[in-house]
Amino acid sequence: MTETINIEIHPIEKSRIDAVDFDNLVFGRSFADHMLVVDYKDGAWQTPQIVPYGNLSYSPAMMSLHYGQAIFEGMKAYKSESGDILVFRPLENWARLNKSAVRMCIPEIPEEIFMGGLSELLRLDANWIPDKPGCSMYIRPFIFSTDEYVGVSPSKTYKFIIFNCPVGAYYSKPLKVRVETQYIRAAHGGVGFSKNAGNYGGSLYPTKLANDAGYDQIIWTDAAEHKYVEEAGTMNLMFVINGALVTAPTGDTILDGITRKSVLQVAHDWGMKVEERKLSIEELVNGIKDGSVQEAFGAGTAAVIAPISTIGFEGNDYVLPERPEDAFSRRVYEEINNIKIGKKEDTHGWVYKV
Ligand SMILES: *Cc1c(COP(=O)(O)O)cnc(C)c1O
Repeated sequence: MTETINIEIHPIEKSRIDAVDFDNLVFGRSFADHMLVVDYKDGAWQTPQIVPYGNLSYSPAMMSLHYGQAIFEGMKAYKSESGDILVFRPLENWARLNKSAVRMCIPEIPEEIFMGGLSELLRLDANWIPDKPGCSMYIRPFIFSTDEYVGVSPSKTYKFIIFNCPVGAYYSKPLKVRVETQYIRAAHGGVGFSKNAGNYGGSLYPTKLANDAGYDQIIWTDAAEHKYVEEAGTMNLMFVINGALVTAPTGDTILDGITRKSVLQVAHDWGMKVEERKLSIEELVNGIKDGSVQEAFGAGTAAVIAPISTIGFEGNDYVLPERPEDAFSRRVYEEINNIKIGKKEDTHGWVYKV
Protein backbone atom coordinates (compact mmCIF):
# COMPACT_ATOMS: atom_id res chain seq x y z
CA MET A 1 0.00 0.00 0.00
CA THR A 2 1.52 3.33 -0.97
CA GLU A 3 -0.15 6.69 -0.86
CA THR A 4 0.90 8.98 -3.66
CA ILE A 5 1.05 12.63 -2.76
CA ASN A 6 3.35 15.43 -3.69
CA ILE A 7 6.00 15.95 -0.99
CA GLU A 8 8.88 18.41 -1.15
CA ILE A 9 11.97 16.74 0.24
CA HIS A 10 14.94 18.72 1.57
CA PRO A 11 17.35 16.03 2.77
CA ILE A 12 20.02 16.58 5.42
CA GLU A 13 23.57 17.01 4.24
CA LYS A 14 25.06 14.61 6.77
CA SER A 15 23.26 12.08 8.94
CA ARG A 16 23.56 12.37 12.74
CA ILE A 17 23.09 8.64 13.18
CA ASP A 18 26.72 7.88 14.07
CA ALA A 19 26.38 10.00 17.22
CA VAL A 20 23.57 7.80 18.56
CA ASP A 21 24.27 4.88 20.89
CA PHE A 22 21.63 2.37 19.79
CA ASP A 23 22.50 0.07 22.71
CA ASN A 24 21.54 2.69 25.28
CA LEU A 25 18.53 4.50 23.87
CA VAL A 26 16.64 6.62 26.38
CA PHE A 27 12.93 6.97 25.56
CA GLY A 28 12.22 10.20 23.69
CA ARG A 29 15.74 11.66 23.74
CA SER A 30 17.05 10.73 20.26
CA PHE A 31 15.52 12.11 17.10
CA ALA A 32 15.88 10.75 13.58
CA ASP A 33 17.38 12.93 10.81
CA HIS A 34 14.18 14.22 9.22
CA MET A 35 10.72 15.48 10.12
CA LEU A 36 7.53 15.98 8.16
CA VAL A 37 6.11 19.51 8.32
CA VAL A 38 2.78 20.57 6.85
CA ASP A 39 1.36 24.08 7.18
CA TYR A 40 -2.32 24.95 7.32
CA LYS A 41 -3.22 28.38 5.97
CA ASP A 42 -5.87 30.05 3.81
CA GLY A 43 -8.26 27.27 4.79
CA ALA A 44 -6.17 24.37 3.45
CA TRP A 45 -3.30 22.03 4.31
CA GLN A 46 -0.36 23.01 2.09
CA THR A 47 2.22 20.84 0.32
CA PRO A 48 3.95 18.53 2.84
CA GLN A 49 7.66 19.08 3.33
CA ILE A 50 10.29 16.74 4.69
CA VAL A 51 13.13 18.74 6.21
CA PRO A 52 16.05 18.11 8.58
CA TYR A 53 14.87 17.64 12.18
CA GLY A 54 15.57 20.90 13.95
CA ASN A 55 14.33 23.92 15.85
CA LEU A 56 11.43 26.09 14.77
CA SER A 57 11.13 29.79 15.37
CA TYR A 58 7.89 31.40 16.58
CA SER A 59 6.37 34.54 17.96
CA PRO A 60 5.90 34.73 21.75
CA ALA A 61 2.24 35.40 20.91
CA MET A 62 1.83 32.04 19.16
CA MET A 63 -1.66 30.96 20.17
CA SER A 64 -1.00 27.33 21.10
CA LEU A 65 1.37 28.48 23.87
CA HIS A 66 -1.42 30.50 25.46
CA TYR A 67 -4.67 28.66 24.85
CA GLY A 68 -3.59 25.10 24.29
CA GLN A 69 -4.80 24.21 20.83
CA ALA A 70 -2.30 21.37 20.63
CA ILE A 71 -2.93 17.66 20.02
CA PHE A 72 -0.68 14.66 19.48
CA GLU A 73 -0.45 10.97 18.75
CA GLY A 74 2.01 8.21 19.59
CA MET A 75 2.62 5.07 17.57
CA LYS A 76 5.44 2.69 16.69
CA ALA A 77 7.23 1.26 13.66
CA TYR A 78 9.28 -1.93 13.69
CA LYS A 79 11.78 -3.67 11.41
CA SER A 80 10.84 -7.21 10.52
CA GLU A 81 13.52 -9.91 10.31
CA SER A 82 13.55 -9.48 6.52
CA GLY A 83 14.04 -5.71 6.88
CA ASP A 84 10.50 -4.55 6.10
CA ILE A 85 9.23 -1.41 7.83
CA LEU A 86 6.04 -2.28 9.70
CA VAL A 87 3.80 0.27 11.43
CA PHE A 88 1.22 -0.90 13.96
CA ARG A 89 -2.34 0.28 13.22
CA PRO A 90 -1.43 3.80 11.98
CA LEU A 91 -4.88 4.43 10.49
CA GLU A 92 -6.28 4.18 14.00
CA ASN A 93 -3.91 6.94 15.10
CA TRP A 94 -4.87 9.04 12.11
CA ALA A 95 -8.58 8.66 12.93
CA ARG A 96 -7.99 9.47 16.60
CA LEU A 97 -5.90 12.53 15.78
CA ASN A 98 -8.84 13.83 13.79
CA LYS A 99 -11.24 13.09 16.65
CA SER A 100 -9.00 15.17 18.91
CA ALA A 101 -8.79 17.84 16.18
CA VAL A 102 -12.57 18.24 15.96
CA ARG A 103 -12.86 18.66 19.75
CA MET A 104 -10.12 21.31 19.79
CA CYS A 105 -11.33 23.27 16.72
CA ILE A 106 -8.27 22.19 14.74
CA PRO A 107 -8.67 21.36 11.03
CA GLU A 108 -8.58 17.62 10.30
CA ILE A 109 -5.65 16.04 8.46
CA PRO A 110 -6.46 14.17 5.25
CA GLU A 111 -5.52 10.48 5.27
CA GLU A 112 -3.19 10.81 2.28
CA ILE A 113 -1.12 13.52 3.97
CA PHE A 114 -0.86 11.55 7.22
CA MET A 115 -0.12 8.16 5.65
CA GLY A 116 1.81 9.41 2.63
CA GLY A 117 3.97 11.74 4.74
CA LEU A 118 4.58 9.07 7.37
CA SER A 119 5.57 6.46 4.79
CA GLU A 120 8.01 8.75 3.01
CA LEU A 121 9.55 9.88 6.30
CA LEU A 122 10.07 6.31 7.49
CA ARG A 123 11.58 5.31 4.13
CA LEU A 124 14.02 8.19 4.31
CA ASP A 125 15.09 7.42 7.89
CA ALA A 126 14.77 3.63 7.59
CA ASN A 127 18.23 2.99 9.03
CA TRP A 128 17.15 4.76 12.24
CA ILE A 129 14.53 2.07 12.96
CA PRO A 130 16.13 -0.23 15.52
CA ASP A 131 15.93 -3.96 14.75
CA LYS A 132 16.94 -5.35 18.15
CA PRO A 133 14.29 -7.23 20.14
CA GLY A 134 11.97 -4.92 22.03
CA CYS A 135 13.30 -1.80 20.24
CA SER A 136 11.24 0.30 17.84
CA MET A 137 10.79 3.72 16.28
CA TYR A 138 8.43 5.83 18.35
CA ILE A 139 6.47 8.11 16.01
CA ARG A 140 5.11 11.42 17.25
CA PRO A 141 2.55 13.15 15.00
CA PHE A 142 1.15 16.42 16.39
CA ILE A 143 -0.70 19.59 15.41
CA PHE A 144 -0.59 23.01 17.05
CA SER A 145 -2.00 26.45 16.36
CA THR A 146 0.44 29.07 15.08
CA ASP A 147 -1.39 32.41 14.75
CA GLU A 148 0.37 35.38 16.31
CA TYR A 149 -2.61 36.61 18.30
CA VAL A 150 -3.59 36.77 21.95
CA GLY A 151 -7.35 36.86 21.52
CA VAL A 152 -9.15 33.67 22.53
CA SER A 153 -10.52 32.03 19.39
CA PRO A 154 -9.55 29.21 17.06
CA SER A 155 -6.33 29.97 15.21
CA LYS A 156 -6.40 30.35 11.43
CA THR A 157 -3.01 28.70 10.91
CA TYR A 158 -1.58 25.40 12.18
CA LYS A 159 1.40 23.12 11.80
CA PHE A 160 1.25 19.34 11.50
CA ILE A 161 4.56 17.67 12.25
CA ILE A 162 5.78 14.11 12.52
CA PHE A 163 9.15 13.32 14.05
CA ASN A 164 10.58 9.96 14.99
CA CYS A 165 12.54 8.66 17.99
CA PRO A 166 14.40 5.35 18.00
CA VAL A 167 13.58 3.79 21.39
CA GLY A 168 14.92 0.87 23.35
CA ALA A 169 13.12 -1.94 25.10
CA TYR A 170 10.85 -0.60 27.81
CA TYR A 171 11.92 -2.72 30.79
CA SER A 172 9.65 -1.46 33.48
CA LYS A 173 9.49 -3.19 36.78
CA PRO A 174 5.93 -3.79 38.00
CA LEU A 175 4.31 -0.52 38.99
CA LYS A 176 3.13 0.70 42.36
CA VAL A 177 0.06 2.82 41.69
CA ARG A 178 -2.17 4.92 43.93
CA VAL A 179 -5.90 5.44 43.55
CA GLU A 180 -6.47 9.18 43.14
CA THR A 181 -9.48 10.44 45.08
CA GLN A 182 -8.95 14.20 45.03
CA TYR A 183 -7.76 15.28 41.58
CA ILE A 184 -9.36 14.22 38.30
CA ARG A 185 -8.13 13.64 34.75
CA ALA A 186 -11.39 13.97 32.86
CA ALA A 187 -15.06 14.77 33.39
CA HIS A 188 -18.12 14.13 31.23
CA GLY A 189 -18.39 16.78 28.55
CA GLY A 190 -14.67 17.54 28.82
CA VAL A 191 -11.69 16.60 26.69
CA GLY A 192 -10.51 13.37 28.33
CA PHE A 193 -11.09 11.28 25.20
CA SER A 194 -8.81 13.53 23.14
CA LYS A 195 -5.03 13.44 23.11
CA ASN A 196 -4.64 17.14 23.73
CA ALA A 197 -1.58 18.58 25.42
CA GLY A 198 -3.44 20.14 28.36
CA ASN A 199 -4.61 16.76 29.67
CA TYR A 200 -1.00 15.85 30.34
CA GLY A 201 -0.09 19.21 31.85
CA GLY A 202 -2.95 18.82 34.30
CA SER A 203 -1.85 15.33 35.33
CA LEU A 204 1.69 16.28 36.35
CA TYR A 205 0.97 17.74 39.78
CA PRO A 206 -1.20 14.91 41.17
CA THR A 207 1.31 12.44 39.70
CA LYS A 208 4.15 14.27 41.44
CA LEU A 209 2.29 14.03 44.76
CA ALA A 210 1.87 10.28 44.20
CA ASN A 211 5.58 9.98 43.30
CA ASP A 212 6.52 11.84 46.49
CA ALA A 213 4.46 9.30 48.45
CA GLY A 214 6.42 6.43 46.84
CA TYR A 215 4.10 5.48 43.98
CA ASP A 216 5.00 5.30 40.29
CA GLN A 217 1.64 6.28 38.86
CA ILE A 218 -1.95 7.22 39.57
CA ILE A 219 -5.15 5.32 39.01
CA TRP A 220 -7.63 7.94 37.89
CA THR A 221 -11.20 7.57 39.10
CA ASP A 222 -14.44 9.08 37.81
CA ALA A 223 -14.84 12.81 38.40
CA ALA A 224 -18.30 12.66 39.98
CA GLU A 225 -17.79 10.15 42.81
CA HIS A 226 -14.17 8.91 42.72
CA LYS A 227 -15.80 5.49 42.87
CA TYR A 228 -14.89 3.77 39.60
CA VAL A 229 -11.47 3.16 38.06
CA GLU A 230 -10.75 4.87 34.75
CA GLU A 231 -7.10 4.88 33.61
CA ALA A 232 -3.58 4.43 34.95
CA GLY A 233 -1.52 7.54 34.27
CA THR A 234 -1.40 7.73 30.48
CA MET A 235 -2.37 4.10 29.92
CA ASN A 236 -5.63 2.24 29.84
CA LEU A 237 -6.14 0.03 32.88
CA MET A 238 -6.96 -3.66 32.70
CA PHE A 239 -7.55 -6.51 35.14
CA VAL A 240 -7.91 -10.25 35.01
CA ILE A 241 -10.69 -11.13 37.45
CA ASN A 242 -11.81 -14.74 37.84
CA GLY A 243 -10.29 -15.48 34.45
CA ALA A 244 -12.10 -12.64 32.65
CA LEU A 245 -10.44 -9.55 31.18
CA VAL A 246 -12.05 -6.47 32.73
CA THR A 247 -11.59 -2.84 31.66
CA ALA A 248 -13.55 0.41 31.83
CA PRO A 249 -15.78 1.11 28.83
CA THR A 250 -14.60 3.95 26.60
CA GLY A 251 -16.60 7.16 26.64
CA ASP A 252 -15.76 10.84 26.78
CA THR A 253 -13.57 10.48 29.89
CA ILE A 254 -11.43 7.59 28.67
CA LEU A 255 -8.80 7.66 25.98
CA ASP A 256 -9.75 5.04 23.40
CA GLY A 257 -6.37 3.28 23.36
CA ILE A 258 -5.21 1.27 20.38
CA THR A 259 -3.24 -1.07 22.65
CA ARG A 260 -6.40 -1.53 24.75
CA LYS A 261 -8.39 -2.35 21.64
CA SER A 262 -5.73 -4.83 20.49
CA VAL A 263 -5.52 -6.57 23.88
CA LEU A 264 -9.31 -6.95 23.99
CA GLN A 265 -9.30 -8.43 20.48
CA VAL A 266 -6.55 -10.95 21.28
CA ALA A 267 -8.37 -11.99 24.49
CA HIS A 268 -11.54 -12.42 22.47
CA ASP A 269 -9.67 -14.46 19.82
CA TRP A 270 -8.37 -16.73 22.58
CA GLY A 271 -11.91 -17.36 23.80
CA MET A 272 -11.38 -15.45 27.01
CA LYS A 273 -14.31 -13.67 28.60
CA VAL A 274 -14.02 -9.90 28.01
CA GLU A 275 -15.95 -7.43 30.14
CA GLU A 276 -16.00 -3.73 29.28
CA ARG A 277 -17.74 -2.42 32.36
CA LYS A 278 -17.47 -0.13 35.33
CA LEU A 279 -15.27 -1.47 38.08
CA SER A 280 -15.51 0.13 41.51
CA ILE A 281 -12.55 0.61 43.83
CA GLU A 282 -14.49 -1.38 46.41
CA GLU A 283 -14.84 -4.38 44.09
CA LEU A 284 -11.17 -4.08 43.17
CA VAL A 285 -9.91 -3.95 46.77
CA ASN A 286 -12.16 -6.80 47.87
CA GLY A 287 -11.10 -8.80 44.80
CA ILE A 288 -7.42 -8.37 45.63
CA LYS A 289 -8.13 -9.46 49.21
CA ASP A 290 -10.06 -12.59 48.25
CA GLY A 291 -7.75 -13.51 45.36
CA SER A 292 -10.26 -13.10 42.52
CA VAL A 293 -8.22 -10.24 41.01
CA GLN A 294 -5.37 -12.18 39.41
CA GLU A 295 -3.64 -9.50 37.34
CA ALA A 296 -3.60 -5.72 36.91
CA PHE A 297 -1.77 -3.89 34.14
CA GLY A 298 -1.64 -0.72 32.09
CA ALA A 299 -1.87 -0.82 28.28
CA GLY A 300 -0.43 1.85 25.99
CA THR A 301 1.90 2.30 23.03
CA ALA A 302 5.05 3.25 24.96
CA ALA A 303 5.24 0.32 27.40
CA VAL A 304 2.69 -1.85 25.54
CA ILE A 305 1.90 -3.75 28.76
CA ALA A 306 2.95 -2.40 32.17
CA PRO A 307 2.23 -4.86 34.99
CA ILE A 308 1.00 -3.46 38.31
CA SER A 309 2.21 -5.03 41.55
CA THR A 310 0.65 -2.80 44.20
CA ILE A 311 -2.44 -0.62 44.45
CA GLY A 312 -2.57 2.01 47.18
CA PHE A 313 -5.94 3.25 48.40
CA GLU A 314 -6.70 5.43 51.43
CA GLY A 315 -3.34 4.74 53.03
CA ASN A 316 -3.36 0.96 52.54
CA ASP A 317 -1.34 -0.97 49.98
CA TYR A 318 -2.97 -3.94 48.31
CA VAL A 319 -0.47 -6.31 46.75
CA LEU A 320 -1.25 -8.37 43.67
CA PRO A 321 -0.01 -11.94 43.29
CA GLU A 322 3.32 -12.55 41.48
CA ARG A 323 2.73 -12.99 37.75
CA PRO A 324 3.09 -16.66 36.78
CA GLU A 325 5.00 -17.55 33.58
CA ASP A 326 1.71 -18.11 31.75
CA ALA A 327 0.05 -14.90 33.01
CA PHE A 328 -2.32 -13.36 30.47
CA SER A 329 -0.42 -10.06 30.51
CA ARG A 330 2.81 -11.85 29.49
CA ARG A 331 1.16 -13.92 26.77
CA VAL A 332 -0.76 -11.01 25.27
CA TYR A 333 2.41 -8.88 25.22
CA GLU A 334 4.25 -11.65 23.31
CA GLU A 335 1.37 -12.12 20.91
CA ILE A 336 0.96 -8.44 20.05
CA ASN A 337 4.71 -7.97 19.79
CA ASN A 338 5.03 -10.91 17.40
CA ILE A 339 2.27 -9.52 15.20
CA LYS A 340 3.99 -6.10 15.21
CA ILE A 341 7.32 -7.47 14.03
CA GLY A 342 5.77 -9.78 11.43
CA LYS A 343 6.60 -13.02 13.27
CA LYS A 344 2.98 -13.96 13.73
CA GLU A 345 0.23 -13.91 11.13
CA ASP A 346 -1.64 -10.59 11.08
CA THR A 347 -5.21 -11.87 10.87
CA HIS A 348 -6.82 -8.51 11.66
CA GLY A 349 -4.94 -6.34 9.15
CA TRP A 350 -3.20 -4.38 11.90
CA VAL A 351 0.22 -4.10 10.31
CA TYR A 352 0.91 -1.44 7.67
CA LYS A 353 3.92 -2.24 5.53
CA VAL A 354 5.70 0.87 4.27
C1 LIG B 1 -2.22 7.58 24.59
C2 LIG B 1 -3.00 7.22 25.82
C3 LIG B 1 -3.40 5.91 26.09
C4 LIG B 1 -2.96 4.73 25.28
O1 LIG B 1 -3.34 4.75 23.96
P1 LIG B 1 -2.57 3.85 22.89
O2 LIG B 1 -3.28 4.12 21.64
O3 LIG B 1 -2.71 2.44 23.34
O4 LIG B 1 -1.16 4.29 22.92
C5 LIG B 1 -4.21 5.69 27.20
N1 LIG B 1 -4.58 6.68 28.01
C6 LIG B 1 -4.19 7.96 27.80
C7 LIG B 1 -4.65 9.03 28.73
C8 LIG B 1 -3.38 8.25 26.70
O5 LIG B 1 -2.98 9.50 26.50
